[in-house]
Amino acid sequence: MSIRTRLTLWYTGLLALTLLLLGILIYSVVGRILIVNLQERLVAQAEDVIAVIQQENDPMAVMLSARAKLPTSIDAFGSQYFVQIVQLNGRVAQLSENLRGQRLPVPSVLLQNLEAGRPRYMTVQAGDVRLHVASMPIPIGNQVVGVVEVAALMANIDDALAVVRRALLFGSVLALIFAAVGGSILARAALQPIKNVTETAQQITGTSDLSQRIPMGAVNDEVGQLTATVNDMLGRLETSFDTQQRLVADVSHELRTPLTTIQGNLDLLRRGAADDPTMRNESLAAIGNETARMRRLVNDLLLLAQADAGLQLQLQPVELDTLILDVYRQGQVISQNTGVRVRLGTEDQAVVLGDADRLRQLLLNLVDNAIKYTPSGGDVTLTLKREAGWVLVSVADTGCGIPEEDLPHIFERFYRADRSRARPGGAGLGLSIAKWVAEAHGGELEVESEVGQGTVFTLYLPEPGADDEEEA
Ligand code: ADP
Repeated sequence: MSIRTRLTLWYTGLLALTLLLLGILIYSVVGRILIVNLQERLVAQAEDVIAVIQQENDPMAVMLSARAKLPTSIDAFGSQYFVQIVQLNGRVAQLSENLRGQRLPVPSVLLQNLEAGRPRYMTVQAGDVRLHVASMPIPIGNQVVGVVEVAALMANIDDALAVVRRALLFGSVLALIFAAVGGSILARAALQPIKNVTETAQQITGTSDLSQRIPMGAVNDEVGQLTATVNDMLGRLETSFDTQQRLVADVSHELRTPLTTIQGNLDLLRRGAADDPTMRNESLAAIGNETARMRRLVNDLLLLAQADAGLQLQLQPVELDTLILDVYRQGQVISQNTGVRVRLGTEDQAVVLGDADRLRQLLLNLVDNAIKYTPSGGDVTLTLKREAGWVLVSVADTGCGIPEEDLPHIFERFYRADRSRARPGGAGLGLSIAKWVAEAHGGELEVESEVGQGTVFTLYLPEPGADDEEEA
């Protein structure tokens, strides 16, 4: 059963129940009001009759001899009230004219436990009519001498209640039909946006077009939130799909260049270069270089894949000052013949919890980049400082700098600012790996750069125990 049908059935059912309870309440309250009103009128009439009897010269005799007079307003033939005076022994002493000799019932309880001024009521069936009867004891002096019964037809009340019943029934049925139809339409309107979401999602699944988005409604209701969530999910899917596609394209591209070089050199060797020692050595060197480059690339990719899979580093105490000295020395080797001077700036002593090999790889990569992108005559400076619970290692160069529009992207995989300028050797993975290493140490890698002035990469590593000290 659809949500729409279920919703409609539910609130129609609830409305039916509400209407039923309300109907019963209204019906009984109206019935009660009508009866109480009738009883008040009957009692008033009975009191009139008693007053007339009490005014007689000899009220006792009147009661016995059946000569009691009734108030003319009641005794009229067309009066709607029927009156009967009953003696204590149950005998009828007087009847109003409109009874035409018929008698009102006198049940035995009517004459028991009489108390002046206290009326009793009953509804009786007399022939084919229903009567409501009020009976009042007749006191003479301080003695009750009989009972006056005043009755009226129930037909008026029954008719009025029948009208109320019909009105309630008709109104309820109308309300239920209205609620069922209106509810069904409303439910459809309310569920339509969900249907739209489902249809668009199905369409996207069908066409595999992840660039599609579900149109957002004007209001931010539950459906709006669902739409936003699904759109957000689509966005992520699209990004990860694009990234994956780009990764495959980039990897193929990066592998094709060395493969082409290797293939070319092999052809050269085959066509006779192997016989010329100089040419042979050059070709073999080129093949060796390209193979090394491919191995680096594959290793980098493997490391990133492991990082994505949640590779945990083995962290051990590392003397950073010693490590930096090491990197500094290697930097000097790399910078030979480039005209770039590698220097050591401030160097505090610091021990961090880390993976020494990965940290060395990270810093060497930064130094290598700095040398690569700094023209002859420039400087590359390594510093190590401790600051507010952090150990800061920075690699600053006086090189070409990174344009502002490239800065947010340089940590992305395969991203290389200004490809024409980027020299061979790197595939644009170095900084992605460096950033991952920094983060895997609970640290951060940040960059500041100005075109033409130079670039500073700063690695932040948490100082062990700094948190405890702060908390203490
Ligand atoms: P690559 O293998 O190209 O060096 P990286 O991930 O190490 O890849 O660096 C990404 C890009 O960031 C580089 O292509 C370069 O454009 C830019 N870059 C990195 N370091 C520097 C630097 N010190 N000075 C200027 N540009 C840099």
